[in-house]
Amino acid sequence: MIIVLKSGSSEETAKQLMKQIEDKGLQPLYMPGDERTVLGALGDERILASLNLESHPAVDSIKPILSPYKKVSRELHPEDTKVQVAGTTFGGEKFVVIAGPCAVESQEQINDISMEIKATGGALLRGGIFKPRTSPYSFQGLGREGMPLLVEAGEKSGLGTVSEVTDVSEVEFMQDKVAMLQIGARNMQNYRLLQAVGETNTPVLLKRGMSSTIEELLLAAEYITSAGNEQVVLCERGIRTFETATRNTLDLNAVALLKTLTHLPVIVDPSHGTGVRELIIPMAKAAVACGADGIIVEVHPDPVTALSDSHQQLSAQQFRDLMRQINPFIKAAGRTAA
Ligand code: PEP
Ligand code: MN
Repeated sequence: MIIVLKSGSSEETAKQLMKQIEDKGLQPLYMPGDERTVLGALGDERILASLNLESHPAVDSIKPILSPYKKVSRELHPEDTKVQVAGTTFGGEKFVVIAGPCAVESQEQINDISMEIKATGGALLRGGIFKPRTSPYSFQGLGREGMPLLVEAGEKSGLGTVSEVTDVSEVEFMQDKVAMLQIGARNMQNYRLLQAVGETNTPVLLKRGMSSTIEELLLAAEYITSAGNEQVVLCERGIRTFETATRNTLDLNAVALLKTLTHLPVIVDPSHGTGVRELIIPMAKAAVACGADGIIVEVHPDPVTALSDSHQQLSAQQFRDLMRQINPFIKAAGRTAA
């Protein structure tokens, strides 16, 4: 339920109402605004009815939250949420670019590319150490041994790091070593994993499952936020369709729709979204134009030799071209680049 208080209601009144909501076993939310304070009550709405809040002198109106996801819904929280990650902010004026190799392969590889990314204006460094691969015979990532390599590259370049966590057992190991935990497409509905990252204080990049609906994505985000971690950034990374000419079909409808349905920042992954190197710059421009808050893009010092996703990784030169070419689009969208 959304409980709108009359203007001029004191913080003390809000706190008293929240206490009543909590005493009934519901979760109260406090959202002070410039004009009005709004309270939320999450849980069984029939219980709330017994509190008779309509007749409370400080209450202006009460309305149900119609969407199945509550905390991530714009109904409850009309303003954009800003998610801070290692000195950069998603969901604000800045268009945030996360870049880096698909996987961390060696110290030299990750150090070299991180310096290039920093020099070109990338905001965060990506690099997988646990790689969820379709085939068990493909490179699976360096595992825990890759972490010091990623940490060193992050420290040397000054970039915060983003890396995928694929299992509940890795959450504790990773949570303080990276600036942002990535939940990959294959794990978007791994509910225990969502809860586990929801119990950390580390911001989460939640990728859309390759066959997941927008509602399922938002409910996955609700798992994380309802476990206590509200720092969630959503990522459209392409969905499976009948089309086989590209690796996935980048669903930019989803970006524009998500921006209306949720207050969380939304970014686009044109690398996995297309799987085709030549399509990454055009789709990055499209991502800016449709209102995304940033992109995540794969960049490798020598893409041909990459141990995973070699055909979709950009070289350092191609990444410089990307950054130069998206700049006018970023300005036209009323946002700022790096
Ligand atoms: C990745 O980012 O390297 C990755 C595996 O992405 P996705 O989960 O979107 O396939
Ligand atoms: Mn990849």
